[in-house]
Amino acid sequence: MTTSTRGDVKDLSLAARGKDRIEWAAKDMPVLRLIRERFAKEQPLKGVRMSGCLHITTETANLAITLKAGGADLVLCASNPLSTQDDVAAALVSEYGIPTFAIKGEDEEVYYSHINAVLDHKPNMTMDDGCDLVSTLHTKRTELLDNIVSGLEETTTGVIRLKSMEANKVLRFPVLAVNDSDTKHMFDNRYGTGQSSLDAIIRSTNILIAGRTVVVFGYGWCGRGVASRAHGLGANVIVCEVDPTRALEAVMDGYRVMPGVEAAAQGDILITVTGDINVIDQKHLENIKDGALIANSGHFNDEINIPALEKLSTGKRRVRDFVDDYTYSDGRHVYLLAEGRLVNLSAAEGHPASVMDMSFANQALGAEYMLKQGKDLEPRVYTIPTEIDKQIASLKLQSMGVRIDTLTEEQESYLNSWESGT
Ligand code: SAH
Repeated sequence: MTTSTRGDVKDLSLAARGKDRIEWAAKDMPVLRLIRERFAKEQPLKGVRMSGCLHITTETANLAITLKAGGADLVLCASNPLSTQDDVAAALVSEYGIPTFAIKGEDEEVYYSHINAVLDHKPNMTMDDGCDLVSTLHTKRTELLDNIVSGLEETTTGVIRLKSMEANKVLRFPVLAVNDSDTKHMFDNRYGTGQSSLDAIIRSTNILIAGRTVVVFGYGWCGRGVASRAHGLGANVIVCEVDPTRALEAVMDGYRVMPGVEAAAQGDILITVTGDINVIDQKHLENIKDGALIANSGHFNDEINIPALEKLSTGKRRVRDFVDDYTYSDGRHVYLLAEGRLVNLSAAEGHPASVMDMSFANQALGAEYMLKQGKDLEPRVYTIPTEIDKQIASLKLQSMGVRIDTLTEEQESYLNSWESGT
């Protein structure tokens, strides 16, 4: 299909399969379903032009359908060259009438041409996963900035970039940091990344995790999730950190903690989840154990110093889908998964629907909130009000059939008092 106002996808004949899978994910997104039903009646996003740069997955499709039901005029592109599910992109275009510009494996030129295509839509609102849309707007498409009421940002890395734009006083419109909601990062980043990263490593290699040494670089929400799931599968987990408090937490959670270079010599599987650059650097790669697998589940594909890996190697061969075998001159083999791009979305399907349900409830309610508030807000980074965050948690519990207690009047007034002490 050629680039047009309908989008640019790999193969429209995949649409029926994509629709089946989108409907499958919908079953596990009850909170988003409730929002969709209300949006369809109330039309809170009526006529709003939205451009979204997100991973094109079955879960994102359900968000897109929800926003469209709320009246939004929405177009989508991929937020990572490898994370697109081509059948979903096809279904979005031909089954749901949502123009989508995304092809799995697209090169950087096509990736940015797709970003520019969704910006040609002249959005009033942006949705980003990683801040590429907002950064392109502020550097190359500044003529469009005046149309924009607000943006929404899905992920940690994007929020870090936005906060730097805010600090440097270059951010031109208010942006909601969806990632900073409790119902986002405490669940998506931890349980989502934990499960989907292990899923991707297992799918692409079919190795047994039990008995293996897994080194997790970074012990933020994502790293905690990866470490806990690897441990649950029987791995011997080592954590590498630069923050003393997080390192201490990892020690007390029962993991071994040591410098990365030492861990590299012991690890069978090395996973980066830091949001930083060259976390597995030349010195780690020189020290690495023969046969080690390396994968990245965070940020962009620069957490692993791939140019250094190339230099250390005399040859490189694709041995399975998403697995490249790098051979060192001394005969060691190192296996890089998914070209160092985020492994969970490249070699598996990203986080499961049940957890994206909460993340995308934040996106949908966040869009509604920012549309109302955006015009009065300074161009800074905001978080969703606590009441909306708690409401999402309550709805999720309700959908799971879990009931909880409420404060008695006596307890409420006790918590608001200061007079009673020892
Ligand atoms: N933007 C960076 C890294 C962010 S990926 C990059 O592309 O390299 C992590 C984000 O992907 C998370 O914030 C999560 O909410 C999102 N994500 C994970 N699984 C997803 C899924 N199934 N569908 C859509 N987004 C997903």
